[in-house]
Amino acid sequence: MSRVAVLPAERVALRDSAGRVLRQEVQAERDNPPFDRVCMDGVAVASSAFTRGTRSFRLQGTQAAGEVPLTLAEASDAIEVMTGAVLPPGTDSVIPLEEYDLAADRLTLKPEASAEPWRNVQRRGCDSMPGVAMLTAGMRLGAAELAVVASAGLAAVEVSREPRVTVVSTGDELIEPGLPIADHQVRRSNAYAVCAALQLHGYSEVADQHLRDDEAVMRRHLGEILDSRDVVVLSGGVSKGKFDFVPSALKALGVTEIFHQVAQRPGRPMWFGVGRQNQLVFGLPGNPVSTLLCLVRYVLPALCAATGQSIREPERLAVTEPMSGRKMTYFMPVTLVNRDGATQGEPRAPQGSGDFLALAGTDGFVELPPQPEGYPAGFVADFSRW
Ligand code: AMP
Ligand code: MG
Repeated sequence: MSRVAVLPAERVALRDSAGRVLRQEVQAERDNPPFDRVCMDGVAVASSAFTRGTRSFRLQGTQAAGEVPLTLAEASDAIEVMTGAVLPPGTDSVIPLEEYDLAADRLTLKPEASAEPWRNVQRRGCDSMPGVAMLTAGMRLGAAELAVVASAGLAAVEVSREPRVTVVSTGDELIEPGLPIADHQVRRSNAYAVCAALQLHGYSEVADQHLRDDEAVMRRHLGEILDSRDVVVLSGGVSKGKFDFVPSALKALGVTEIFHQVAQRPGRPMWFGVGRQNQLVFGLPGNPVSTLLCLVRYVLPALCAATGQSIREPERLAVTEPMSGRKMTYFMPVTLVNRDGATQGEPRAPQGSGDFLALAGTDGFVELPPQPEGYPAGFVADFSRW
């Protein structure tokens, strides 16, 4: 994480900003609410008249939301008001329409009616005042945050530029879905999983390529990719095999290796480096379970950091069943289930790192710390969603 540089900011239209990471503070434009606001359909009266015993009022007029407010003429008058209207000057209380009868321009309060000061009124500025920061840099613009930006009157906002990501699968054995396949060949599935995960997490600048296990070809193409992209996510070719050229090709292109191999299962051969322009380069192991786990465990958090997102506490989850011990950090896929009103994770251990069928239908994985003696049912661990 310490090697991840934050991407530059850009200005986008509010309409296009859903899911983007805010890079500015958003301040209230005006008092919020901007005036004493009626929050119930009914009549506005002066509470002092009610306190003096007035129970019958002359209806002076009707006021809808968005209209310039009427001013109360006489203390014995009332003004019909709709939710969202400005509270008419001279009044300070709104009696809901269930509490009075109206005949022509005369309204009579029912015995249960009341008119305390500021009843059914949201006072001007009670939610926020001009200049107060409502949103800060680093927040991701979800539905609620977008509503706040709109309320501040902004038609465009500063957000992080979308990371430009290229997903590169490697391997001479891999065949595209839809094409004929021989017995000795394997379907190219990782790139689809990786692209889908990136899209589903809101990244749309994602390209996808396949490279043969040929060092010269790799160097040429990876060089071109590095010239134009912020993030490269490779799958395969990072182990110790004779045709695993990814680390050497990247080093030859000036990508600095930050780490190679991690004490974890699956995903032990993982490689990570940083290019000359701070490009993030992830060499994920090719085994499909490892690829997806490492993507979620390393690449997604790095993309959050690169887009300037504030770091959040990891989710924690208890598992439903005891699990056998592990000498290395272990990523256990889980399905979320409800146990006595609490969400827990049901372990779904794959047979091995090639058993990606086991992942289908799971929700994510828990990260089990090394613990050779095993993990009891109810063990609580960090949880990542796919
Ligand atoms: P590698 O990391 O290149 O040694 O690959 C490890 C295993 O994962 C091999 O069995 C590969 O055939 C398989 N594999 C590698 N890349 C992919 C991919 N994109 N889709 C499916 N399987 C793959
Ligand atoms: Mg390979």
